[in-house]
Amino acid sequence: MVNAFPATRTVAQRLIIGFVGIGNMGSAMATRLLGAGYRLVVCDKNEEAVQRLQMAGAKAATSPAALAATPGLSAIVSMLPSLEHVRQAYLGGDGILSVPSGELHPHLLIDCSTIDPLTAREVAAAASDATLHPNAAEAHDGQRSPLLIDAPVSGGVPGATAGSLTFMCGGEPAAVDAARPLLETMGKRIIYCGGNGTGVTAKLCNNLVLSVSMAAVSEGLALGKHLGLDPHLLSEIFNTSSARCWSSDTYNPVPGVMEGVPSSRGYKGGFSSKLMVKDLSLALKAAEHSGAAAPMAEEAHKLYSQVDPNLDFSAIYKQLYKG
Ligand code: NAD
Repeated sequence: MVNAFPATRTVAQRLIIGFVGIGNMGSAMATRLLGAGYRLVVCDKNEEAVQRLQMAGAKAATSPAALAATPGLSAIVSMLPSLEHVRQAYLGGDGILSVPSGELHPHLLIDCSTIDPLTAREVAAAASDATLHPNAAEAHDGQRSPLLIDAPVSGGVPGATAGSLTFMCGGEPAAVDAARPLLETMGKRIIYCGGNGTGVTAKLCNNLVLSVSMAAVSEGLALGKHLGLDPHLLSEIFNTSSARCWSSDTYNPVPGVMEGVPSSRGYKGGFSSKLMVKDLSLALKAAEHSGAAAPMAEEAHKLYSQVDPNLDFSAIYKQLYKG
């Protein structure tokens, strides 16, 4: 496959990219693409979100199908809440893959949503059954069908805004290589994980560990506090001892221990408990399907379900452990 997305601004200016799902993450990622010179066509159910991107220079499509039928469109990036939305945007009545055979323009589909590996593989298989427009096929070495990769991210809204996301990619190596310049505009680390579904698998495993480590750090710090230990001092001890982890030394859940983290601004912003519960549900579904044991994920799912869904997941320290 030819490298279709050179990173230089002059070449980027000739390329038209579609973006489906311009919410918290997608709008920041789409803005990075616009800033790099790509011509952008966006699609979202939320009209206000579309208007904001139009003011920044993007064009709008009325549906994922209308977007996919846009002549000259090279690729579509999607950043949707969960698997139902991904199914609807790709496989639904006005979804990307509902475009009649031979009228589909993007040769590359990059789904950055956090979903489960089964759905990621199902959508990739449906993409491989679709037929590209003859002009798109000719522009890409006779490629017959669009290639789809799963490329979920870590780094949150700050990483999306700064263009420093980590992408965990699953799909054909050539498709991930073709996507690389686009991904490098939005992120710093592009990690190839294997075939379709392995990117989302990596993401779910990461968030499973994160959820458990945050609960454990919160439990330890709250126990210490109830026994009379200052959480600032105990955090310092954790961070130079064997309890040290990202949840204690980079994203501490105790208000005032660290600046610039959600715990120090009323648990606002950050990664919501709602999204953590969603990711744990997906991990549990994947564990059940594969026969893997996941008792910690089960417990974490129960715990985070008791936290305000709209607050950052580190609010587990205050709301559940009463720290
Ligand atoms: P969000 O709810 O802010 O944005 C999703 C957007 O998708 C919304 O604007 C919604 O209107 C749109 N949408 C839904 N269905 C659609 C459809 N069929 N067609 C067109 N548009 C549609 O969500 P977000 O916080 O941006 O998260 C997106 C994904 O990124 C999720 O899978 C999440 O798990 C993952 N993620 C989020 C974060 C974070 O910190 N927010 C961090 C890492 C990964």
